[in-house]
Amino acid sequence: MKNIIFIAPPAAGKGTQSAIIEKKYSLPHISTGDILRTEASSDTELGRYIREVLSTGGLVKDEITYDLLLKRLSQDDCKNGYILDGFPRNLEQAYKYEEILNKLNQNLGYVIYLDIAEDILEKRITGRRICENCGNVYNINSETQRPKLESICDKCGGRLYQRNDDNVSSFKNRYQLFLNKTKPILDYYKEKGVLYVINGNDTVTNIAQKIDEVLIKGM
Ligand SMILES: [Zn+2]
Repeated sequence: MKNIIFIAPPAAGKGTQSAIIEKKYSLPHISTGDILRTEASSDTELGRYIREVLSTGGLVKDEITYDLLLKRLSQDDCKNGYILDGFPRNLEQAYKYEEILNKLNQNLGYVIYLDIAEDILEKRITGRRICENCGNVYNINSETQRPKLESICDKCGGRLYQRNDDNVSSFKNRYQLFLNKTKPILDYYKEKGVLYVINGNDTVTNIAQKIDEVLIKGM
């Protein structure tokens, strides 16, 4: 049984690592955003309510999210575990998640934290450049991911651009939100003995290997 929660600050490489684990262990990738969007596409009263809230940029009531999460985690494909992404984001959600697990007669499993310093994340985000033609991603602050010519794609010669929210102030906001809301969860999980801290300032392969070691040891 591998129930896995990934916790990481913005731009720490959580998406990349969860995709690797997902594939390697054939685990479903579950995010509350996806669950809500799926429900919103159904022609039910609940679906219509969620559709309306999401279309106005509002937040769906927590209780509804919890109910849908319980329903999703009780499906057959979650029997051997799953990767939960973007949830819980704060302590209140962490408590609720355990109520859900109790109902399902399951345990917390692994909480994996990708630990990486703020200044490194900031460099990653502000240095990110994307090719407008082929979508290849570069980083002008990284020796290994820098394009040969600044603002030109190595692969296709297309022009590189910077995404609107890849700037310092947007990063600072997201990082502060992470520190205030999500970081307290780490202490909580540490006390429960389910927290595994992985150094996120390493290559994709090395990080994946360390996560692997945690999951294998804990089997
Ligand atoms: Zn390109």
